[in-house]
Amino acid sequence: MKKHNYSAGPCILPQEVFEKSAQAILNFNDSGLSLLEISHRSKDFVAVMDQARALVLELLGLEGKGYQALFLAGGASLEFVMIPYNLMKVDGKAAYLDTGTWAAGAIKEAKLFGETVVVGSSKDDNYNHIPTGYSIPTDADYFHCTSNNTIFGTQMKTFPTTEVPVVCDMSSDIFSRVLDFSQFDLIYAGAQKNMGPAGTTLVVVKESILGKSGRDIPSMLDYSKHIKAESMYNTPPVFPVYTSLLTLQWLKNLGGIAAIEKQNNAKANLLYSEIDRNPLFKGAAAVADRSAMNATFLLNDEAHAPIFDEMWKAAGISGLPGHRSVGGYRASMYNALPLESVQVLVDVMKALETKV
Ligand code: PLP
Repeated sequence: MKKHNYSAGPCILPQEVFEKSAQAILNFNDSGLSLLEISHRSKDFVAVMDQARALVLELLGLEGKGYQALFLAGGASLEFVMIPYNLMKVDGKAAYLDTGTWAAGAIKEAKLFGETVVVGSSKDDNYNHIPTGYSIPTDADYFHCTSNNTIFGTQMKTFPTTEVPVVCDMSSDIFSRVLDFSQFDLIYAGAQKNMGPAGTTLVVVKESILGKSGRDIPSMLDYSKHIKAESMYNTPPVFPVYTSLLTLQWLKNLGGIAAIEKQNNAKANLLYSEIDRNPLFKGAAAVADRSAMNATFLLNDEAHAPIFDEMWKAAGISGLPGHRSVGGYRASMYNALPLESVQVLVDVMKALETKV
């Protein structure tokens, strides 16, 4: 039996993506060769890269608006470094919103490059909400935020309007909800949640913000070099890119981001309603900032944990324990998780009431 996979990432992907990517490993495009043994410069793979880059811009509504999509390696964590390298001027400064562990990781790296202003932080409340009422210095080279805080289960519902370029880590909610993506100048996301397996990072960047830092940037860390090489500056992570293309095609066939957002909202509403109704549970994040991707929740009485854990495991659920910095439970409901899986979890939560 397939598990109801609530893992925070790497995580569930559409079943058809698993099947098609497995087939590509055995015999890619009926070529008699595996995807893993063809040249990345072959016509077939260049077509994969081109389609994937184009489909990203199409799904985000950014075609023809001066953006480039890149599939890089190094994880979202390398973008923590590439962003200041490419965007923070020598003697310049950057503004960051501190909304969780990953935002803090990005801040740590930016500090290596220059003045890093933390404009708002919810650290003192264990990142259980998104800070408000902050202002962004108009002389900052860019503003960096994290749209969805995977560990803490908070999500930015709106983004500040500012003159400075806006950079957003969308690792855990890219392609999950309709946004005006043109309000961002650079978006990045590790593939391993809503897009594909670990091993590639999507970067969507408005070309006009590049080339202004005045820094000598090592080639592999230079967005402009990757753009010039059409995301093939060196050997790209072929399997993660191909699998990402399959997921993007699945999403397009489903009706795109608007269609998946409806499903994501239905899943989140179902689970949060139960968290709020059931006297045995409480949510960990501020209600207004709750993430539709990662729902964090706790038992009111820790003594119920052994029986609850036994029950959800018996129901075929996996990946539910919360991150150690929040405790309790985290239900990650990425795009490919079906509503039925959420219903299974909700049924177990209800059943717990009859057992304790
Ligand atoms: N940013 C966010 C929001 C994340 O959730 C993660 C990982 O879960 C990262 C960054 C780090 O990603 P990577 O492991 O690809 O470096």
